[in-house]
Amino acid sequence: MDKEFDQHYNDELHTENADPEEILDDVAYYRTIAANVYMLGHPDSDTWVLVDTAVGHYSTRIIAAVEKRFGDKKPSAIILTHGHFDHVGSANDLAKHWNIPIYIHEKEIDYVTEKAQYQPADPTMGGGLMSIFSILFPKKPVNLKEWVQPLPSNGEIPLLKDWRYIETPGHSPGHIVLYREKDGVLITGDAILTEKPQSTISTFIPIKNVYGPPAYFTEDWDAARNSVKKIAALKPNYLLTGHGLPMEGPEIQEQLDHLASNFDNLVLPDHKKN
Ligand SMILES: [Zn+2]
Ligand SMILES: [Zn+2]
Repeated sequence: MDKEFDQHYNDELHTENADPEEILDDVAYYRTIAANVYMLGHPDSDTWVLVDTAVGHYSTRIIAAVEKRFGDKKPSAIILTHGHFDHVGSANDLAKHWNIPIYIHEKEIDYVTEKAQYQPADPTMGGGLMSIFSILFPKKPVNLKEWVQPLPSNGEIPLLKDWRYIETPGHSPGHIVLYREKDGVLITGDAILTEKPQSTISTFIPIKNVYGPPAYFTEDWDAARNSVKKIAALKPNYLLTGHGLPMEGPEIQEQLDHLASNFDNLVLPDHKKN
């Protein structure tokens, strides 16, 4: 790990909560400097899964957070919302540590096995997440080929009976969200955020508002617009995003509808507007 990277971690860790936080009795999350990691399953249950893995070099902290909640019960699998480095960075280390499979949508597999590369980040989009990412951006692409397999194509998520995944392309080609219909819990990855993606690091304060996907990594804006509409149509009760704090309650729907119907104004970068 290089010095600048290490220093950045140490600075940030002073402000970081090292404990997992419970959202529901079988849903918890661990907030890292760059992205959220979710733990799905009751602490007493033998089967539970981890969703997303933050940036690289984070496995020790994630394992510590997991042990606080689950003791020595390891997850049965890792599910990835998409293959961007801030969600898959520690996936290899964790899969190896626990000896468990990693699942991602079929359309993301090539990007996490060094067969394809995402479009480069849009350099005109500066701001908070981007400035963190420029420090954390890995020098080598991740290659999960030893552990990764495609999710079933029917929307089922291995090991999670109550959950389904829904395709939400745009931010990346095979981006998914995870949804549990019985109580309306939605894990959104980067299809929707509750943290303003272009804000500065110092605004990592609890502003709960619904935002579109981070502009600098979003590849297909038409698809991203459709995915926001799809998410709004689900009418989720809980919004658990890849970046930002969890949201609950009626303001979710107001804000999702607002975002869906004003997507071009609110979300499209200026140079993509007609
Ligand atoms: Zn992303
Ligand atoms: Zn992200």
